[in-house]
Amino acid sequence: MTRFQSSNKKRRVKGFPLFFSLFLILFFLLDPSLHFSQIGPALEWHLLYSKIRDGLISKEEAQDKLKGLESSLRHDYLKNWRGVFDDSIGFPLPGYPPNAIGGKGGSGYRIQDYDFFDGNQHKGHPGHDIFIQDKNQDGLDDVTGKPVEVVSVCSGIVVSVNLNWSPPSSLRGGNYVWIYDPVKGRYFYYAHLNEIVVQVGQIVYRGDRLGTVGRTGLNAYPKKSPTHLHFAVHQSMAGYPKPMNPYQKLKRGGH
Ligand SMILES: [Zn+2]
Repeated sequence: MTRFQSSNKKRRVKGFPLFFSLFLILFFLLDPSLHFSQIGPALEWHLLYSKIRDGLISKEEAQDKLKGLESSLRHDYLKNWRGVFDDSIGFPLPGYPPNAIGGKGGSGYRIQDYDFFDGNQHKGHPGHDIFIQDKNQDGLDDVTGKPVEVVSVCSGIVVSVNLNWSPPSSLRGGNYVWIYDPVKGRYFYYAHLNEIVVQVGQIVYRGDRLGTVGRTGLNAYPKKSPTHLHFAVHQSMAGYPKPMNPYQKLKRGGH
């Protein structure tokens, strides 16, 4: 009798953790706030940037959040970092010469009243357009007949990717990638891409493939625009990304 009771009790004790685990799994799956806290700083950056881009958040709130996320990105990623600590960058279109950069002597770079927190409504052109040979605008290089690869100019974390641009979207960047270098506190922006092969949260190193040059984006899509990559660099000052001019480095092929 005593033996039977005790074994029955054991069985009940065994059953309870299984039921409890199932309950916990369901609880975590169904509670969106708990789910949100699991996403990590790169995906949070991506969601925050979408709000900035679409004008859905105040500058003050956005800067405050960005500052916190940059600190989390540094903390989460520097542990396993094997990035390059020098200040040079690579050229984003391998095989293309520096004179593919638009304008004269880097004149394509215009800060004017640019403010990162103006999102899609920003003024100025705080970057460089690098043109490919694509007279028939099919997105392929006229000489090789192949898509033109876009590579990362430095080490960093992919913090935002937009993949689904199609006309008549008014989004200026089209299909784009934002990369954050947590060592230098610097952002790198690649816009108007066609294909994108990286994901938010992924670590990339200099020379890693990001995607291919495309014609996506409000002003890059119409016929009047020759096919190009838009490339920009921002230095973050306490969560406030300020444009910087990479022209001298790009002109030397990235060094
Ligand atoms: Zn541009």
